[in-house]
Amino acid sequence: MLQQTQVATVIPYYNKWLRRFPDFASVSCASQNDVLHAWQGLGYYDRARNLRAAASIVQDRHSGTLPGDVAAIRKLPGVGRYIANAVATFAFNQAVPIVEANSSRVLARLLDMRAPIDSAIGREKLWAFAAQLVPKRNAARFNSALIDLGALVCLPDKPKCSVCPVKKFCRAKNPGALPIKKSKPRTKRLIERHAFVVSNGRVLLEQSSARWRGMWILPRFETGASDQPLYRSTFPFTHHRIAFVVYRRATPNRVSPTQHWFESIDDIAMPSPHRRAAQALLSATQVAPSRRRRSSKL
Ligand code: SF4
Repeated sequence: MLQQTQVATVIPYYNKWLRRFPDFASVSCASQNDVLHAWQGLGYYDRARNLRAAASIVQDRHSGTLPGDVAAIRKLPGVGRYIANAVATFAFNQAVPIVEANSSRVLARLLDMRAPIDSAIGREKLWAFAAQLVPKRNAARFNSALIDLGALVCLPDKPKCSVCPVKKFCRAKNPGALPIKKSKPRTKRLIERHAFVVSNGRVLLEQSSARWRGMWILPRFETGASDQPLYRSTFPFTHHRIAFVVYRRATPNRVSPTQHWFESIDDIAMPSPHRRAAQALLSATQVAPSRRRRSSKL
């Protein structure tokens, strides 16, 4: 959950997730819809799909217990060097390095590193330096302290060098100018049109096969529309800014195989922009679908 997402945002999701899925067995038995539904609002849904796949492997190959060996952890779906090492050091106190946003800033400044921290060469330098520093004993405490040093002292804009406990090791001549990052791609603007179709207290949704794969969205609506939209919003997605526009559309004679009518949207996995739009439009049209009666296909 902490990939791409801040701790404060994650905590309520984490607690709710553990109540719903207290162990690997419960995640591996859950349907994709249930897992995505529990994840909704956190974004980057591949993380949820990978977690479900990883839980199945832990359940089948490791008798439901996460292996402590960093190489075995790294073989799980969605697990790269950072996650494998973070789990190995924080859960098992193994002497492996971790490099994340806060510690990479500290390390780049200690080295006075000129390579961008998000370039291949810069990343490898940071990992090699972190590996040199990590002690054989108390690695979890050391790695945690390095992250806290970045979060509390070696701040992005105004590093507190006068109170820094590692000042005498630091080579940074102008710490405020570090770390160097590659320039970001420019934000692209996109318009995405979707249809709001209701009939007999049911709303038509389609299962996405691209972005938000497996989740339910308002049906896509490709052609230009001359009528006024019912709903507009914007949301960011990677380096895009999406203008999300919803139009009322008449009930079609036939629905496609990926589309279903839903009497309730409460228990289905929907990405946040689509859930917000569907809830606003359903309450504006006073369609109050009853709970529990899930879906029917025309
Ligand atoms: S001395 Fe300053 S720049 Fe260097 S690690 Fe400490 S806070 Fe960061």
